[in-house]
Amino acid sequence: MNSQSYMYPNLLNLIGKTPLIKLNKIALNFKGTYLAKWEAFNPGHSNKDRIALHIIQTLEEQCAINEETTIIETTSGNTGFSLAMVAIIKGYRCVLAVNSKCSDDKINMLRALGAEVYVCPANVKADDPRSYHQIAKKLLNETKNSIYINQYFNELNVQAHYKTTGPEIWNQTEGKITHLVACSGTGGTISGCAKYLKKMNPSIKIIGVDAYGSVLKKYHETSELDPNEIYPYRIEGLGKNHIPSTTNFELIDEFIKVSDEKSAYMARKITKEEGIFVGYTSGAAFEAVRLLNKKNKFSNKDCIVVVFPDHGSRYLSKIYNEKWMLDQGFNQYNILEKQSKVEYI
Ligand code: PMP
Repeated sequence: MNSQSYMYPNLLNLIGKTPLIKLNKIALNFKGTYLAKWEAFNPGHSNKDRIALHIIQTLEEQCAINEETTIIETTSGNTGFSLAMVAIIKGYRCVLAVNSKCSDDKINMLRALGAEVYVCPANVKADDPRSYHQIAKKLLNETKNSIYINQYFNELNVQAHYKTTGPEIWNQTEGKITHLVACSGTGGTISGCAKYLKKMNPSIKIIGVDAYGSVLKKYHETSELDPNEIYPYRIEGLGKNHIPSTTNFELIDEFIKVSDEKSAYMARKITKEEGIFVGYTSGAAFEAVRLLNKKNKFSNKDCIVVVFPDHGSRYLSKIYNEKWMLDQGFNQYNILEKQSKVEYI
C-alpha cells in the first residue's frame, strides 16, 4: 500500500507492525525504561495472528493445503481466533479443540468467526484421550484432507516471530533493548524474538514468564520434567504440562513464576493506570517485572521490552468480573487496588 492510499486489500495486511508503548505510571517506582509491545493491535487482537498467517501462507506456498482443506488445531483460544480469522479470509474450514479453562468469551468468539469448537477438560494429562491434544489427533484422523497446525511442535510458529516480532522490537528500540520479558506458552514468541534479538546483540537478556502449576521453569533449570510441578492454575495461555519443541530453552536466560492472583490484579492495574486494556498474561508479564525489580534486577540504563499478548475484552467474564475474582478467592488486594499509586507487595 502506498502512503496516499487508505485501502487495504484485506484484513491480513494489517497483521504485525504493532506499537511499542512506554509504560509510565505503572513503572514509576521501577528502575529502567519499560516498553510494552502491544500485540492486541493485531486485527485478531493477539500475537497469534502472526503465526496463523505465517503458517497458513507457508503451507500454501508448499502446496500442502488446497481450498478443500480443513484446518485443525488445539488452542487456548487466541490461536483459534487468529486461525479462524485467516481461514475465513482465505476460505478454509476451521475446527478447534480448546480446553475448558478457556473463557466463555473466547469460545463464543471462535464460534462467531465460524469455527467448529470442541471444548475438552483442562486438568488432564496431555496423553489422556480426553485432552485437547488427543481430541485434535482424533479429529485429524477422521477428517479427510485435514491438516494439524500443531503450534507446540511447529517450527513455523517460532519463525513467524523471528521474522516479524523480533525485528520490529529491535527497530522500534533502535537497538537499545537490554531485556525482553515474555510469557511462554508454546514458547514461539519468546524463542523467535530471542533468536533474532540475540543475533543482533548477544548480551540482550531474555526472561520467560511461567505459571505456578507449569513445568517450564524447573525444566529450564534441571532438564527434568517434574510431574510434581503440574497442578491446576487459572492464567490462560502461559505455562505448560509438557515440553513444547517450539520453546528454545537455550536462548532463555531465566524463567520467573507468577501467581494467578497477583497477575490478575496486575492486569487490572495496568488497565487502570495506563489505559491499555490488557489480557491476563500481560498482567503476568508485568507481575514478573515487579518481582524482578524487587530482586534489583534492572538499572536505570536498562530498556526492558514487555510483551503484552492480547486484549482485556477477552477476559470480561474473568479477571474483569468482580464475582469471578471473589469466586477464585482473589480479594487480598481489592482495597489497595482502589487507591491510586499504591505499590502492593
Ligand atoms: N498470552 C496469551 C494470552 C496466549 O494465548 C499465549 C499463547 N498460548 C501466550 C501469551 C504465549 O505465547 P506463546 O505461545 O508464543 O509462547
